[in-house]
Amino acid sequence: MPINVFQQSRQKLTLYYSLIMAVFLIVLIIVVHQSMEWSMESEQARELVDTAGRIAGGQEYLMQHPELLEDADDWRMESSDRLFFYVFDNEGEPVNFSRASEQLEPFVLDVIGKWNTDPGEVDVVTDYSRRRQSRIMMTSQPMMADGEQVATVYVGKDVTAMYNGLEKATYSLAGLAVLALALAAGVGHVLAGEAIVPLIEAYEKQRQFAADASHELRTPLSVVMASADLLDNDPSITSPFLKQVIGDVRDEVKKMTKLVSDLLFVARSDNQALKLKRSKIDVAAAADQTIRLMQPLADKKQISLLREGEAALVAKLDEQKIKQLLLILVDNAVKYTMEGGKVTVRVLLLAAGKIRIEVEDTGIGISKEDKTKIFDRFFRVDKARSREMGGNGLGLAIAQEIVTLHGGTINVESELGKGTKFIVTVKG
Ligand code: ADP
Repeated sequence: MPINVFQQSRQKLTLYYSLIMAVFLIVLIIVVHQSMEWSMESEQARELVDTAGRIAGGQEYLMQHPELLEDADDWRMESSDRLFFYVFDNEGEPVNFSRASEQLEPFVLDVIGKWNTDPGEVDVVTDYSRRRQSRIMMTSQPMMADGEQVATVYVGKDVTAMYNGLEKATYSLAGLAVLALALAAGVGHVLAGEAIVPLIEAYEKQRQFAADASHELRTPLSVVMASADLLDNDPSITSPFLKQVIGDVRDEVKKMTKLVSDLLFVARSDNQALKLKRSKIDVAAAADQTIRLMQPLADKKQISLLREGEAALVAKLDEQKIKQLLLILVDNAVKYTMEGGKVTVRVLLLAAGKIRIEVEDTGIGISKEDKTKIFDRFFRVDKARSREMGGNGLGLAIAQEIVTLHGGTINVESELGKGTKFIVTVKG
């Protein structure tokens, strides 16, 4: 399970890194595109305004010398370098022009008809009406005679190719950015992998230590337990005080032994060293046995322990682990149920060979927010209460581990003050 956590962290790190890179590249592309557009546009616009000034000057000269216009057709040439101009007098009659290309002209005339940009200002207009959009850049200049405006010169340029070029450049930049992003994600993944190696090693060492320590503690604990048993049975010890002390030692050693074996289980499960030993077992009989084991404790609290469901149910499961799971759930149910309560263990056969084990109690219940945490290691709703009853907060973590090993699910339904129901589903 922790190995997955490391993998998840690695993926998360890579994802965050890639997202940051993506945002950075997108901003970069936008900035580059805008600045290219701006510099090209301003350069073209300056040229256009200059040209417009020169044409207006030339036209003014021609108007003052109309004899030069006699062979007007010479002037009305089609423009060759995408540049065109039209001169209209105050009545809107054309005075002179150097025409835009045939396809573009209707659009240009339309733009001139609607023109309301200030003289000397440049505007870029796009023709969306055709499939291949064309774009023109235009400016206007007034033509003066004797201090009065007599006509207007409209000078424009077909800038379609320029914008298309800009678009292509932006697309290639975006393509490069995608490649860079893929590369960055790859590098990020490798680096994140490298970064978590020391973490995995440190975790592994710590896990190994927990496993070794709990393993090593088992022997001395059993020696202490055996000695305490010996003393307990020694007829020469008659003092009630000493008997009490021996009893306390036995209780504490029992708790420690349980804690140590739980720790060992958890450490082994982290190491994926836990293997299932599946064999044909009777789950219903295992439930009956658990009830028999728990009966003395239940009797102490006048809790009735009931068994419902199948009388026999054979399935291929790990016997020892299923018994451990049942014990954890029934033990909890008895622990967290008040005197006179009821605990029911149900073993049910579902469709498709699935087995459902339910352990239901009429106990203290679990609040909604604690329900998500009870399967965490060492989580206890009420630490003092749990410790007092011999709990260490590992029971449900182990229960979940056992169910996961069997490829099943464990869920909890509970209401504070009313009771709790643990539902385990495994495939037999
Ligand atoms: P513990 O050793 O403390 O019982 P567990 O992992 O078995 O540890 O359970 C975690 C916590 O979940 C317990 O401390 C308790 O607060 C809560 N809990 C578990 N089972 C029940 C139950 N049947 N009813 C109410 N609370 C429960």
